[in-house]
Amino acid sequence: MNSIKNISFAGQRTLIRVDFNVPIDSDGIVTDTTRIKAALPTIHQILDTGGSVVIMSHLGRPKAEKTNKLSLRHLVKPLSELLDKDVQFVADCIGVEAANVTSAMKPGDVVLLENLRFHAEEKAGNDAFAEQLAQHGDCYVNDAFGTAHRDHASTSRIAQFFNNKKYFGLLLEKEMEAIDGVIHSNETPKLAIIGGAKVSSKITVIEKLLDTIDAIIIGGGMAYTFVKAKGGKIGNSLVEDDYLEMASDLLIKAQEKNVTVHLPRDTVAADEFNNEANRRTVAIDAIDEGWMGLDIGPSSISYFQEDVIQKAQTILWNGPMGVFEMKNFQKGTISIAQALVEATENGAYTLVGGGDSVAALNKFELADKVSYVSTGGGALLEYLEGKSLPGIKAIVR
Ligand code: AMP
Repeated sequence: MNSIKNISFAGQRTLIRVDFNVPIDSDGIVTDTTRIKAALPTIHQILDTGGSVVIMSHLGRPKAEKTNKLSLRHLVKPLSELLDKDVQFVADCIGVEAANVTSAMKPGDVVLLENLRFHAEEKAGNDAFAEQLAQHGDCYVNDAFGTAHRDHASTSRIAQFFNNKKYFGLLLEKEMEAIDGVIHSNETPKLAIIGGAKVSSKITVIEKLLDTIDAIIIGGGMAYTFVKAKGGKIGNSLVEDDYLEMASDLLIKAQEKNVTVHLPRDTVAADEFNNEANRRTVAIDAIDEGWMGLDIGPSSISYFQEDVIQKAQTILWNGPMGVFEMKNFQKGTISIAQALVEATENGAYTLVGGGDSVAALNKFELADKVSYVSTGGGALLEYLEGKSLPGIKAIVR
């Protein structure tokens, strides 16, 4: 891997693609700097070896037009404070002003470019736009694992303009090592905990994981499609009827590969999709019409915690066990997070990834108590599926 470790960037203007897609409140204050902090080791390494740094990122989903709300200008202050250094902001990522600023940089300078997605060409993967971006650097570093599965101008297209001067950033490298570590770990039993809303978005990952794991917990909204496929009554719970057959096939495949599938035993059912709805705990396969399962129930929680999670040595978690955004349906997700923390304390390796599971960990202030928190959501799933990610493929030399 063409890592930046042990590389000197003396006199080099280094263009870094980072993932600074951070939450910003209505006053323009960055409310969570985790993603900025995650990019600091790469930025420091380049500055410390005598280079200068041009930072580019997307922020949110602008409709290819400038809005103050999604301006990276809001990141100048927290980034300067974290780096303990002035950061110069350029109000467009391409054009004359940006070119003038980046061509005059001296070693130690840090420039932050405006939101890449203010130009539709970024997501379109436009080569001419990528070439304009490329002019800001003598070399290119990709440190944005979260967007590595995208074939965008700044994540993959741009690499063609750097020949041998393209590198994996330290965060990207660390993410790949952590996930590879789980896939290839010999510390067994190996457990995957997969939750979230949709079977359709995760069934291929689960199928792939069956080759490497010993057991899997399937929770969250996607569990009901499996329960229905097994003949259970799921009332008005979330279901993808088009996937019933695939779910049945997957259960058979798991059995053939000696992978134990743990589905929830009970559920907290509600008569409306609402925090204030009436609730009752029922068996997972006996949910009445008019009721929907919105969280795993107490018997599932203790079974998963004691009989499954505490026995595992390597654990991967992606996707919440219920509608954790609503207070009355967050217990299952909190309990899984706590069980992972306990397993970590007892020596298991635990990797958590995906926007919602990480948001849940942060919400319960447990993020620093598991072994590794991945910044990738879609990228993590595609990497686990064994797909070749455009952002990674583009920088391999
Ligand atoms: P995903 O993006 O597929 O990981 O799904 C995350 C979403 O799944 C979260 O917003 C949860 O609220 C939602 N979710 C989890 N469990 C359920 C459930 N039982 N019914 C409906 N939505 C759920």
